[in-house]
Amino acid sequence: MTQPVLRRLPARYLLRFPAHELWQHITGSFILVMDDGEEIPTNHVETCYSSYVWDFHRQYPETPLLGEHHIRGVLSWDSKIYPGGVRYPERLSIGADLKLIGNCMMSVYDTYRALGKPVERTLLWKLAYDVNNVQYCDFIRYADRYVGTIDLLHFFEAMDEPEIYDANQACQRGEIHVNEVYSAIDSVFKDKSRLRHNPLVREYRSKILKETQLHQNIGPRGNPTDMDSRIFNHTIRRGYVEGIRRIADSAIESCSAARASYYAAESLRMSEYFSRKLQFVSQNVQNIHQNCDCGSTEYLVWPKLRPMKKDERGEKVQISDLELLDGKYYLEESTGKLKVLTPADVHLYGQSIRLRSTLHCAHPDPAGVCSTCFGELAFNVPPGANIGQWCATTMAEQATQALLSAKHLERTMALERLSIEPEYAKYIQGGSDNTSYVLNKLIEDKDVSIILKRVQAESLHDIKTVDDIRHHPEDHYSEMTILNLRVAEPVEAAAQDARTSNIKLGSLVRPIQIEVGTQGSREASLSYEMLEYIKEHGYKTIPASAEAPRGQKGEDLYEINLEDWNWDDPILVLPAKHFNNSDHVEQVAKKLESRVAEMRKRSREETADRMLIGEAGLFDFVNRKLNVNLSCLEVILYATTVVSVEQNDYSLPKPWTPSQPSVLSMTMRNRSLSVDFAFEKQYEALIDAASFIYTNRFDHPFDGIYTPTAVFVT
Ligand SMILES: [Zn+2]
Repeated sequence: MTQPVLRRLPARYLLRFPAHELWQHITGSFILVMDDGEEIPTNHVETCYSSYVWDFHRQYPETPLLGEHHIRGVLSWDSKIYPGGVRYPERLSIGADLKLIGNCMMSVYDTYRALGKPVERTLLWKLAYDVNNVQYCDFIRYADRYVGTIDLLHFFEAMDEPEIYDANQACQRGEIHVNEVYSAIDSVFKDKSRLRHNPLVREYRSKILKETQLHQNIGPRGNPTDMDSRIFNHTIRRGYVEGIRRIADSAIESCSAARASYYAAESLRMSEYFSRKLQFVSQNVQNIHQNCDCGSTEYLVWPKLRPMKKDERGEKVQISDLELLDGKYYLEESTGKLKVLTPADVHLYGQSIRLRSTLHCAHPDPAGVCSTCFGELAFNVPPGANIGQWCATTMAEQATQALLSAKHLERTMALERLSIEPEYAKYIQGGSDNTSYVLNKLIEDKDVSIILKRVQAESLHDIKTVDDIRHHPEDHYSEMTILNLRVAEPVEAAAQDARTSNIKLGSLVRPIQIEVGTQGSREASLSYEMLEYIKEHGYKTIPASAEAPRGQKGEDLYEINLEDWNWDDPILVLPAKHFNNSDHVEQVAKKLESRVAEMRKRSREETADRMLIGEAGLFDFVNRKLNVNLSCLEVILYATTVVSVEQNDYSLPKPWTPSQPSVLSMTMRNRSLSVDFAFEKQYEALIDAASFIYTNRFDHPFDGIYTPTAVFVT
């Protein structure tokens, strides 16, 4: 069979018809020839759809009309070739419309800027809004005959597909894991040659349905979590379509609803109140100077650009750095020029780069930053907007939304992987089940002890009186995030090590501190095996005074020698607990908030750079659950740093001033009082002598509300 010869239509010619008229002029399949000669095989529906967005070209005719301005150029073709050499196009999906509008808008902006006739951004935004609006109105009018419905038979049809049916049966017999059923569903639903008429499948391919939710309907419900985020050790092996019929299943499943309603009250209140505080402080960074380069020569050193990380089940663990650094300027070392980072710069993976950063902006405006330090994202900041407010809401909005949609994001839970810093891998390893730690046999022949602090094991003495230790949960006895080990090594091996603390009979004792638990909500506890070992062999108490440096108050320590320990047993266990969105928001708040007690330590050791991208820095932590561009995080962090707490100078730091992190509430109190009065505990500010003594303070946009005459009457 030979391919039919298709008509060729120049896209530029079609521009002369308004979009709603074009429906009457073209029909069927044809080849569209774009301005640069590119030929796109398409049809009248796709072209009429795209034509609405060509209002950009109608109003700004010097913009070239290219493939990326047609929906077929935005959607890719399926890479898989089906029997008979058939390839299927990608279906119109969520986000493709925005991408199409974005492509047209940015082409206009770039073209006219190059021509020396820059177009005001707000005009383009207005046009984008209008295009979208007209498209929506016309489509609900002209496309109603394409609207389909969905009924239960479509679900049954999908479940009767042999692979899905077999997987479900095998799962109910306990032969395969829940995730294997999900991947069977996924592969059938994404096989474009099958179930083409089934609206459920079409919606899945168009990403209108949430994959995880569909999986729980067609496949099994899986492992829900309890109110406190512990993962139930019970798998619900039927899904919502088959029905959750066992009482136990139903009782467990009900917890997800209970948790969602708990989030909607308590967690949401906490998250929003913190968001308000963060916005108040961030508002101090008032201005962004567009099309401006302060010329700062200080950079934020990004240690290593990391690609997207997936776990062994193929689930996304971490988005790529390039996506989150999109639009930042970096120094191209070979040319010494600034370049924009985009997600396409994959050649930079694994490299260290120097970024322009708001944290080092040298713009003379004490309450402003330049658009080059901020990054290309500055294009999206509306004129006159308060940049700090804009960034704080960008982040807080996502956190709140994650709590609100807890019910919709519900899926079967798996545990976060244990991670052990490579330098400690020779001492400790993750157990096979991802919920325990074992000691590495490499140190088996050495003299090893575990050192416990009193606070880590308040109930350790109970094990002597308890008949069967296993009657109580493990975390009843101890909880810890740091494991202290003492490993004695022969003198020669460790002779040169500066960290050695004392000498014990021909060997050097090396104290080792290992972080255990997963960052977030899982604290480790001593395993039953270890508790039984302690019960049998006892422990030695090291009095506080012996260990603490002179002049410091120490605490009692327990030493457990592992001479008779069975090295196959786990020493620590972790609760099967999921790190949830509520915990996450709380900990982001904690990181930014900081406490007065920590501040002295922080200001000595931490720089804003390290707080942002250091170990367990804000960037990684926030983006474990959210998706916040570095530009926004920088501004938020910048707003929380001050020149000097000791000097009582709470202004925003500049490259020529010192800079240190501060406590959020102190920063608010010691900058303009107008914002403190808008927040809470106003009486504290009123009775504080400092409120009257220090009158030279940092401006805040609220000043005009608090003292209008001082601000507006000159
Ligand atoms: Zn700058």
